[in-house]
Amino acid sequence: MATPQIITAKIRGFLCVNAHPTGCAVNVDRQIQVARAAGALGGMRDALVIGGSTGYGLSSLITTIFGHGARAINVCLERPPHGDKPASAGWYNLAAVHRRAKQDGRTVDSVNGDAYSNEIKAETIARLKRWGAKLDSVIYSLASPRRVDSATGQIWASVLKPIGAPYASKSINLGNDQVVTVEIPPASDEEIQATTKVMGGEDWTMWMSALLAEGLLADGCRAVAYSYIGPELTYPIYRSGTIGRAKEDLERTARALDAELASRVGGRALISVDKALVTQASAAIPVVPLYISILYKVMKEKGTHEGTIEQMVRLFRDHLQPGAAPTLDAEARIRIDDRELEPRTQAAVSRAWAEVNTENLFAVSDFAGFKQEFRNLFGFDVPGVDYSQPVDVDVPLV
Ligand code: NAD
Repeated sequence: MATPQIITAKIRGFLCVNAHPTGCAVNVDRQIQVARAAGALGGMRDALVIGGSTGYGLSSLITTIFGHGARAINVCLERPPHGDKPASAGWYNLAAVHRRAKQDGRTVDSVNGDAYSNEIKAETIARLKRWGAKLDSVIYSLASPRRVDSATGQIWASVLKPIGAPYASKSINLGNDQVVTVEIPPASDEEIQATTKVMGGEDWTMWMSALLAEGLLADGCRAVAYSYIGPELTYPIYRSGTIGRAKEDLERTARALDAELASRVGGRALISVDKALVTQASAAIPVVPLYISILYKVMKEKGTHEGTIEQMVRLFRDHLQPGAAPTLDAEARIRIDDRELEPRTQAAVSRAWAEVNTENLFAVSDFAGFKQEFRNLFGFDVPGVDYSQPVDVDVPLV
C-alpha cells in the first residue's frame, strides 16, 4: 500500500498528468445516478464497450450497466498506479464502476491494453466466450493519438490539421488563458492517411469481423461508433480537416457494417453524431476549447446543455436499446447533436465568437465552466470532495 498523500492537479496546457481517486469515484457515482433514472426498458443482456474508461465511452458503459442492466466488458488503455504515482483518471473511473457494480450484484470486466492489437482482441473474445456472452450492444468509442498496426508494426500518428490550405482562427491558449490567433498548416497526404488509420473505421471493422466470426453477436445486435460534425465555424479544423476525413471513413464503415450485420444477425451498425463536450480528446483539438466554452454558455442559458452521461442516456433510451427504433438522418446517422446545432443556439455562438477576446473571455463564454469540467475529468474540483485529506493512490481496478 502506498503512503496516503494529498493530491493536487498537475495541469500542463490541455493535459493533466495526474488524477484524484476520490474525485473520479464521485464523478462516476453522479453518472450512475443519472443512468439509473433513465427509464430503460431493461432488455439489454451483454455489452462490449471499446474505449469505456473516460468520456463518451465511460458514459456508455455506465448507461448499459446501471441503466439497462447489461453485463459489460470494457476495453481501454489506462495507466495503473505505480508506487506513490497516481493512476490515470480512466483507471480510477473504472475502479469505481467495478466497485459499484459489485455492490449492485452486476457483472463488469475490463481488459486494459491496446485495443488496436490482435492480442487484446483475442483476450477480449476469450473472456466473452468464458461468459457465454451474446452481445446485443457493441460500442466503439476509441480516441487515440496513435495506432500500432497489428500486422506490420507500423506506427500511425493522427494529427489535427486542416486539409488543402492553412487555417487561421481564434483559439484559447490553455497555458495562460489568452485568446490568441493560431495558424495551422495544412496536413500532408501521409498525415491525412495516418489520421484515418487511427480514427477511421478499419479497426472497428476488425473488431466486428472477429466478433461475428466467433459467433458472439446476438440476433438483432446493435453496434455504434461516435462521430462529430459541429458548426461551419469549426469545419476547417474538424469536419473538413484530417479528423473529419477519418470520421467520413468511420461513417462509410458504419454503412458497410450495417449491411453485414443485417444479413448475418438481423442487426444494425450505426453512427451517433454526438455533441461537443469537454473530454481528454476534445481538449487537445485547437480552436475547439474556445468553441465549447461559448457553446456551454449559450446552451446553459437556454437550458439545453447536456454532459456525456445525459447524451448517452438519451442515445440508448431513444435509439439503441432493444426494442427502440433509431431515428436516422438522410445519411443514416443518429443525431444527438441536435440541440448543439439548433439554429438559434448557433446564431448566439456566432455572435459571441465575433466579439470574444482575452479581456471578455470569462464574460462572453463559459471558459470557467470549461476549466472546471476539464479538472473534473481528472477528479479535481469535484463538489463534495475534501481535497485536504490524504488518499491512497494504490486503488486496484477490480
Ligand atoms: P476520451 O479521450 O475521453 O476517451 C478515449 C477512450 O479510448 C478511453 O477509454 C481510452 O482509454 C481509450 N483508448 C485510447 N487509446 C486506446 C488504445 N490504444 N487501446 C484501448 N483503448 C484506448 O475521448 P472521447 O471524447 O470520449 O471520444 C470518444 C469518441 O467520441 C471518439 O470517436 C470521438 O471522436 C467521439 N466524439 C467526441 C466528442 C467530444 O466532444 N468529446 C463529440 C462527438 C464525438
